[in-house]
Amino acid sequence: MTLNIAENIWVFPIVLPDNPLKWLNCYVIKDREGGRDLIIDSGFNQPACLSDLLSGMEELGLRPENTDVFFTHAHADHTGNAAALRKMGCRLMMGRIDYEYMRSAPWERGLRHKGEEGVPEKMLQEINSKSAGDWLMSAPFEAELLEEGDCLKYGGHKLRCILTPGHTPGHLCLYDKEHRLMFSGDHVLFDITPNIAAADFEDDILGSYMDSLLKIQLYPVELTLPAHRTTGEISFSRRVDELYRHHLERLSEAERIVSENPGISCYDLAGHMSWAIRADSWENFPVGQKWFATGEALAHLIYLVRRGRVERRIDASGVARYRKLS
Ligand SMILES: [Zn+2]
Repeated sequence: MTLNIAENIWVFPIVLPDNPLKWLNCYVIKDREGGRDLIIDSGFNQPACLSDLLSGMEELGLRPENTDVFFTHAHADHTGNAAALRKMGCRLMMGRIDYEYMRSAPWERGLRHKGEEGVPEKMLQEINSKSAGDWLMSAPFEAELLEEGDCLKYGGHKLRCILTPGHTPGHLCLYDKEHRLMFSGDHVLFDITPNIAAADFEDDILGSYMDSLLKIQLYPVELTLPAHRTTGEISFSRRVDELYRHHLERLSEAERIVSENPGISCYDLAGHMSWAIRADSWENFPVGQKWFATGEALAHLIYLVRRGRVERRIDASGVARYRKLS
């Protein structure tokens, strides 16, 4: 299942069972001269994912004691097998900001605030009853922490860490200037749109994401290596442009819905927005998808409130109500 895609660079899929992302692209950079090898991202903490990961490693002849692992960001489909890899003897690395974010239990922070955003009590309880295991997260693990600008060297590739906050607060892409390669993680995906969801009202995560798109667009890229799905025929800069425009359109959509429904809550806005998901109505969305959709609607509302386009007021029952400002 492994595929050689550039000099010393390999990829194999880690299937993500029952997940709309379908699979993770696990990249490997092999050093043919006896240096250390690199794995980028690891799949969920789930037997099927670990099994795909181990078969890929075996096929490529990776020895754990000679292997470093880099995680583009904190989400469980990327870091899920961190503790297992560490136990096998691999060395782990990830961005400091996301490492701290991961340890701050962001979903609990989200839970504390989503009542204020109109999420029904029953749904909050359902989400609250889930544990780290339900989210397929890794057990806690130690990692070497990286910063923007840090450089990794594997198999003749010099990889610079580029901080691209948005999908998570400390997402890192890796850029190989000489070969014009970009490991884009979940910052730039091609046949799906990265989920940009706010945990609470404090984060202007969409503003950060759009700034990170403008930042990454400046890099000349010939081969993009995204963490999910494929790139198709679209160039990197064109896709970055599309993602930017997509959010401008979503912002207009959110603004229009708020203007037509003065006093709407974030949760109700999420129910009015259009989503690329197979469910015949908002009521029939799976609870996890409703949760992500509400986070995404919130990210768009925060963007509009911070820029003076929408007003936010808490009503007598403690729910935030949004109105269009002219
Ligand atoms: Zn992902």
